[in-house]
Amino acid sequence: MPPSLRHIPSVTLLLSDPAAERPLSRFPRPLVLKLLRDILAEKRREIQAGREPSLAPPDLWQELALRIESKTAYHLRRVVNGTGVVIHTNLGRSLLAAQAASQVDRVARAYSNLEFDLEQGRRGSRYSHVEELLTELTGAEGALVVNNNAAAVLLALDTLAKGREVVVSRGQLVEIGGSFRVPEVMSRSGALLREVGTTNKTHLRDYEQAVNERTALLLKVHTSNFRILGFTSEVPLEELVALGKTHNLAVMEDLGSGSLLDLSPFGLEKEPTVPEAVRSGADLITFSGDKLLGGPQAGILVGRKTVIQGLRANPLNRALRIDKLTLAALEATLHLYRRPEQALRDIPTLRLLTAPPAALRRRARRLLRYLTGPERTAVSLEVLPTQSQVGGGALPLSRLSSYALALVPLKGKVNDLEAHFRAHTIPIIGRIEDDRLLLDLRTLQLADFPVLRDCLRAWTAPVSP
Ligand SMILES: *Cc1c(COP(=O)(O)O)cnc(C)c1O
Repeated sequence: MPPSLRHIPSVTLLLSDPAAERPLSRFPRPLVLKLLRDILAEKRREIQAGREPSLAPPDLWQELALRIESKTAYHLRRVVNGTGVVIHTNLGRSLLAAQAASQVDRVARAYSNLEFDLEQGRRGSRYSHVEELLTELTGAEGALVVNNNAAAVLLALDTLAKGREVVVSRGQLVEIGGSFRVPEVMSRSGALLREVGTTNKTHLRDYEQAVNERTALLLKVHTSNFRILGFTSEVPLEELVALGKTHNLAVMEDLGSGSLLDLSPFGLEKEPTVPEAVRSGADLITFSGDKLLGGPQAGILVGRKTVIQGLRANPLNRALRIDKLTLAALEATLHLYRRPEQALRDIPTLRLLTAPPAALRRRARRLLRYLTGPERTAVSLEVLPTQSQVGGGALPLSRLSSYALALVPLKGKVNDLEAHFRAHTIPIIGRIEDDRLLLDLRTLQLADFPVLRDCLRAWTAPVSP
């Protein structure tokens, strides 16, 4: 007999069942009641739609248990990044170095000298913990850190150019991550955008002609996530600095990714590093903490001492301020840069970006050897050369030679395999190419191997609930 609406049990009846004791002893009664009502309402709709859902109490309790589990699990979770995009904006950008993570843990669980001067025994500055490191590592006179680089740019424009004009090349009016748009940040800050040049070419004379008595700032923005190729020209920072000197105007560069190290020896595009930008003489340089730097989300401003003092005194700085956990992670990350070879080894972003293809091929083979159990019966596995990307809107043209594990299900569709991976308890994110699911070894960690094996075994022998 097909189930009818009459057969749907009432919540009261269900709650009198001894099976109700277990969920009620573990979760708040209102939550249990709400979930039960949701389940029963769904059954009602299914029956009305002509389907025949099971109304057996054990099935209903099972469904309740699954819902409670998903409600009480953390929403923000670890995933396995098999995309090969190292600074993956959707998957959490940079991973922290072990030293940074344990420093966060220490500072989080104890009181700290966050704003206490231990020598003087009085109030201190939260910025003191990284200011010296930043000036030492970049060569700048002063430094300040805020919540992220978008905040750094906003603070800088608000402080240096509110109500006045900022000259920027048309070719640098970039949008990053779908929400950071240079013209919009500028209008929020109350600065007036003065676009000069054309999309592909901007000359020094374009800036020169735009300067007038309302001009406050010459701004260069790193075109982080795109490149204009062909007939192009940009004005080097040094020349803007010289122009700024002549007209007594501040010069700022938003570097975006802002690397402290030159990564071109590792096959990445040659980019001006932060110390190079500082040496060009700009008054202010801004960059992110969690892009190429490989630290926590933060916005870093380095530059002339007087400019930094002005930023610090701006009330907006209080609204954009960096929190203590970020500061702890940032200080520990910056410490590693004192020895570049240690930074390259211990900062995950740098380690992954500079991993040589031969090592990635070895890791791929190792993974293949690791997956020799029952999981081999339902998928074909193969190691293929592939190309990884930097991500994070950095070095958009760089393609890094890498190796991927390519998976093809023997039965079923590759899209279903991809969805199964994504739905795993620790979700695994790969990419589909030519009807294969690729997992790039550049972003797979050794600790991910067992996750992958368990997930494949669940695909091979689906366990019924
Ligand atoms: C990424 C980027 C930003 C925004 O930095 P967040 O740290 O993501 O806020 C701003 N400007 C440029 C040029 C960028 O590349």
